[in-house]
Amino acid sequence: MFRIGIGHDTHRLSEGRPLILGGVRIESERGAEGHSDADALSHAITDAVLGAMCEGDLGVHFPDKDPRWKDADSLQLLARVMWLAGERGYRIINVDATVMIEQPRLRPYIQEMREKLSEVMGVEIDCVSVKAKSGEGLDAVGESLAVAAQAVVMLERT
Ligand SMILES: [Zn+2]
Repeated sequence: MFRIGIGHDTHRLSEGRPLILGGVRIESERGAEGHSDADALSHAITDAVLGAMCEGDLGVHFPDKDPRWKDADSLQLLARVMWLAGERGYRIINVDATVMIEQPRLRPYIQEMREKLSEVMGVEIDCVSVKAKSGEGLDAVGESLAVAAQAVVMLERT
């Protein structure tokens, strides 16, 4: 049985915050605001896995009022959700994700993001696609006010 899931996430950008995407620290003047490490890419993928299982969303499993998740490493949150998926008998077929950010260009970091994400999800790197888009100077992404990410995943119940 195959299941598909979709995830989307947005974080406000501000100076003096780290920018972490797919577990990779990105050199940037502006970083993402949030309760955890504000890793929009990992959050979108985690939500997609939860969505494929009809298990709610990140906020249900890791409430932002809970001090346990303050500055949490979002790859660890993804790892917890992958554990849940394993318990339910699911494995990942593939993931496709897009990060939307105006600056900096993410291409030099994409391979490392794919390595980290595929390791946490327990799949080969060629099962995890990460793409990057700018906002073309338009909207909140284009004005460097926000970073956004979207992801789809396909799971198979084994
Ligand atoms: Zn988020």
